[in-house]
Order: sequence, then C-alpha cells, then structure tokens
Amino acid sequence: MQSLHKSKSVRHLGVGRFLIIAATLATSLTACNRKEGIISFGGKAQGTYYTVSYFDSQQRNLQPTVDSLLAAFDQSASLWVDSSLIRRINAGLTDSLDPILYNLLWHSTEVFHYTDGAFNCLVGRIVQEWGFSFRQRQEPDSARLQRLLQAAHAPTYIGNNHVVRTDPLTELDFNAIAQGYSVDILAAAFDSLGIESYLIDVGGEVIAHGAKPNGQSWRVGIERPSADSISAPQVMTAIELRDASVVTSGSYRKYYERDGVRYSHTIDPRTGRPVQHSLLSVSVVEKECWFADAMATAYMVMGLEKSLEFIQAHQGQPGTDAVMFIYDDHGTLKTYETQGFKKLTI
Ligand code: AMP
Ligand code: MG
Repeated sequence: MQSLHKSKSVRHLGVGRFLIIAATLATSLTACNRKEGIISFGGKAQGTYYTVSYFDSQQRNLQPTVDSLLAAFDQSASLWVDSSLIRRINAGLTDSLDPILYNLLWHSTEVFHYTDGAFNCLVGRIVQEWGFSFRQRQEPDSARLQRLLQAAHAPTYIGNNHVVRTDPLTELDFNAIAQGYSVDILAAAFDSLGIESYLIDVGGEVIAHGAKPNGQSWRVGIERPSADSISAPQVMTAIELRDASVVTSGSYRKYYERDGVRYSHTIDPRTGRPVQHSLLSVSVVEKECWFADAMATAYMVMGLEKSLEFIQAHQGQPGTDAVMFIYDDHGTLKTYETQGFKKLTI
C-alpha cells in the first residue's frame, strides 16, 4: 500500500540529510585541535557523537557554527528531545513542519516509493512499541501490531508547511535518515564558507569533500560487525571518499536480546516485526548523505537476496552503484561488494 502522498502544492526544496557504523580514520577529538593545518573537533548530537576535520586557509574555528546547526536540528527532528517539533507533531500538538522536517518527510516519501515501502518513516509507533526508544521492551500482541501496521500505512499527506495524518497513531520517525541529513546540512554550511576539504561524521554517517592539501583523498573505515553491542570498533575495510558520503546501517550494535533472541532496531514495515536475516550491515556510498542513510536502512529491511535483486533491477539508478553487504554465512562473516564499491576500496 502506498501511504505517503505529496499534495499538489508541494515544492521540492532539497538541501543540497545509534551507534553503529563506519569508524572514520580521521582523528576524533573533543577539543578543537590544529595540527599540520588540519582542524578537528567533536561533540554530541542526536544521542550520538560527531566529529569534524577540515583544512581552512583562514584557520577558522567552526565549532560554534556546527554546534548551533546540530542543536537546531535536534530541536526539530530528534526523538530524544522532549520539546522537539517531531515529538510535538507525534503527540498531536501541532501539524506544522519546519523546513528540516519538510525536507525529511519529502525525502522519506521519495525513498518509500523507490524501495516499494521497505523504507517507511511512519513506523514510529511500531518502533516504540518494540521498545527501541522510550518504552519498556516488550513484544506487542498481534492485534496491537495489526493496528499499528494500519497506522504506518494510513494515508499521510505533505502540504506546503504542514503534515496531514489521517490516523492519530501514525507517528513520524526519521532516525533512519536524520543523521545523514544533518551531515548534508553541515556540508552545505562548510561549502558556503568556502571550506574545500572536509570530513564530517555524525554517528558514523560520513561525508568527505575535496582532497587534503597533499592531494590525498579522505579515507573512511567500514566497521567489522561485532558479536555484541559493546566491543570496541574494528575496521573491516577502508575506502577513499571524495565528494561523496558513506553510511553503514547494521543490526549488530543497535538491538536488544530477550530469551536468547536478538531483535534488530530495523522494522519490516510489511510485518511490523524487527527484521531477522543474515545481513549484518550494509554500507552505501552516494553523493548525498541522507540518501545513502535511507538506502542503507532500506537494504537492511530487504535482506541480502532481495537487495541484490533490487540492485540488479535498478542498475544505473541512484543508490545501487557502490554498496557493500556484510552477512553471516553459517557463522562465517562474508562480504558482497558491487563493482562501484570495489573501486573505492584501498
Ligand atoms: P538506521 O540506523 O539508519 O538504519 O535507522 C534505524 C532507525 O530507523 C530505527 O532505530 C528506527 O527508529 C527507524 N526505522 C526502523 N525501521 C525502519 C524502516 N523500515 N524504515 C524507516 N525507518 C525505520
Ligand atoms: Mg539509515
């Protein structure tokens, strides 16, 4: 069922987008650091960390700019901030969209249709019910799940600056795209300031622009899926990234375990249940970080086999050129890389 609609009055604005994912090879520092011309700093946003590294002939400290953009982003799209606009919309207190939520909803609608519903930002209430955000972790009974599935597929419309929900149980959840989109917002700010070489990482969603002064591309490590959620990250493979983003979505850090069963934080919108398959992580390289983020989640929903069918059927189309899958083959870690991804590996 196609549940997300764009009203005729909608214009495409388009900017320019938990702890899993790509461990950057850049230095991550909490205080602003200047060494050999590189400026690096980091902090917290969206319930996770961020790190930024860049070269600037004017040696500007961009931390206040980054912090205020990320704080504004959290006030809009973060489900972890009680007073955020998304929380108020979900609580039925307002239907107004600010430009950030408008773009997130628009982009999510595009990916919803592109992936035939595998990506669905209306699964918010289902995610909560399984207990990945605020509530007790408990399995919803099947009548409740059916009701919430209905809500996740209820007609929902985007107006110029507002959202129309036809079911009060339909709740927005942009966690699968928001970090990536925040990276794009930071990248747009760096571009407008004339920074020609930078690496931005928000919780593992990474964008790299330009080359370092010595001509080398930025390098980003893709994390080896770990056996549990607390092990120190290890790099599985590394890629060179220039004017592109890489996002990894995985089931190995964000999950919970009950009675020996692991429940992923990724929901299959067709069943309302956490996905359960051999796929451990998917890394997608794309120009815009929001799109890489959304596609990585969509592939996690599809699983390896369906993802490969999707890539085959959409050759030459967005989100299919450079993708790496890491999966569990009877206890052995295996990878599948598209040709486009192989070309980037170091
Ligand atoms: P990511 O880590 O980018 O794959 O995003 C996972 C998060 O997105 C989850 O914690 C949920 O909040 C949300 N989510 C879960 N399943 C879906 C889905 N099928 N489509 C869109 N968002 C989802
Ligand atoms: Mg994602």
